[in-house]
Amino acid sequence: MLTTNFHPTGRHFLQIPGPSPVPDRILRAISSPTIDHRGPEFGALGLKVLADVQKIFKTRHPVMIYPASGTGAWEAALSNVLQAGDHVLMYETGHFAFLWNKLANQLGLKSEVISLPGLEGWRNGVQADLIEQRLKADSGHSIKAVCVVHNETSTGVTSDIAAVRRAIDAAKHPALLLVDTISGLASADYRHDEWGVDVTISGSQKGLMLPPGISFNALSPRAIEVSQKGGMARSYWAWGEMIEMNKNGYWPSTPNTNLLYGLSEACDMLLAEGLDQVFARHQRWAAGVRAAVHAWGLPIQCADPAVYSPILTGVMTPEGVDADAVRKVIHQRFDCSLGTGLGKVKGRMFRIGHLGDSNDLTLIATVAGCEMGLKLSGVALQGSGVQAIMDHFTSHPGGLAKA
Ligand code: PLP
Repeated sequence: MLTTNFHPTGRHFLQIPGPSPVPDRILRAISSPTIDHRGPEFGALGLKVLADVQKIFKTRHPVMIYPASGTGAWEAALSNVLQAGDHVLMYETGHFAFLWNKLANQLGLKSEVISLPGLEGWRNGVQADLIEQRLKADSGHSIKAVCVVHNETSTGVTSDIAAVRRAIDAAKHPALLLVDTISGLASADYRHDEWGVDVTISGSQKGLMLPPGISFNALSPRAIEVSQKGGMARSYWAWGEMIEMNKNGYWPSTPNTNLLYGLSEACDMLLAEGLDQVFARHQRWAAGVRAAVHAWGLPIQCADPAVYSPILTGVMTPEGVDADAVRKVIHQRFDCSLGTGLGKVKGRMFRIGHLGDSNDLTLIATVAGCEMGLKLSGVALQGSGVQAIMDHFTSHPGGLAKA
C-alpha cells in the first residue's frame, strides 16, 4: 500500500502553538477567485483590511502587511529603523528571542542580550527593571532600540510590555521599543498605541487563524520619522512607498490577495466576538489546560503564574523522559500534533497550543491524547488531567463564541 496516500479519518488535532487550525469560514473566503490587485474591487478590500487590522493592533497609525512569514516582519522592523553597527538591547525570553537576536546580528547590528543564568530567563517574563538599569547606564544613548517578545511561543511565557515602556521612560532614554507579538496578537491583550510601542511585529498563522503567509509591522509616528531619515539599505521591506500606496488600498508589489480575503473574514469574526471576549476565551482555555497539567503532577515551563501564556502551555516531562518521544506516540496513536521543545529545552518539554479556532471539547480531547500518550510512554501521573479540565470547564462557564 502506498503510504503517501494514507490520510487518517476524522480531523487532525493541530495543537501546536501556530499555525493554528483555520476555520472553514476563512478557508471558504480564501478560496474566492483571485482578482486584479490594481483594480477597484481590490482597493476596497485593501482599505477594509488595513482599517480592520488597526483595530486588532489597537492603533490609529499605519500597519504594514507583507506577503511573508513572521521572520520577514522581524527583518522589516529592524531594517527600517536601524543601521548596520547600531547598538540594540535584546532580552532572551526563549528560542524566538534568541532567533531574533541572531537575525539582528546577521543584519550587522551590534546586539547586547540580557540573558539570565540557566533556564531562569526562559521560565519568566521580561524583568523590566533590568532594562531600566541598563538604559540608565547608557548615558550616551548608544542603544537605539529595545527588542522584546510579548508571547514567547517556545516557552509559554508572556511579558508585560507596558512595564517595558515605563522602564524606558523612567530611564529617560530615547531608544525605540520593538515588540514581537507574532503569537500573541488576537489571543492575548495587546495595545500598540497605549503601550507606546514603536514597531509591533506579528504574523497571520496564530491568533488570526489564517494560514502562514502574511505578517505585519504596526508603526508609531516616531518609527515612521526615524525610518524616513535612516534605516538600512532596503527595498522590499521599505515602509515609505507602502504607506503611500496603502492610503488607497494598494501595495507597491503584488499582495497576497487570497490571504487578504481570509484576513478580512478573520477580522470580521474577531471584531464581532469582541476582542475582550476573545482574550477571556483564551485565558479560560489556558486555565483548563493548566488544571490538567497540575493534576498530572508535571511542572509547567512558565515558573511565574502572573505571566502564564493564554496561547500555549509548556509541559515539562520528568527527568529521563524524552518529550519528543512522548509527542511522537501522541501523534502516531491519536493523530494529534503538539509543539516540540525548541533550543535549550529540546526534549525536556512539549507545548500544547490552545488558541484560535478551538473549543472546550477539542481541548478536553487534546488533554486526553496527551494523558494516554504520557501513560503509554511510562510516565507515572498523579491524577487525571482529563477530569481536571472537565471540572474546570464545567465550573467556569464561558459560553459559546458568537462568531
Ligand atoms: N516570533 C515568534 C514569537 C514566533 O512564534 C515565531 C514563529 O512561530 C516567529 C517569531 C517566527 O515566525 P515565522 O516562523 O512565521 O517566520
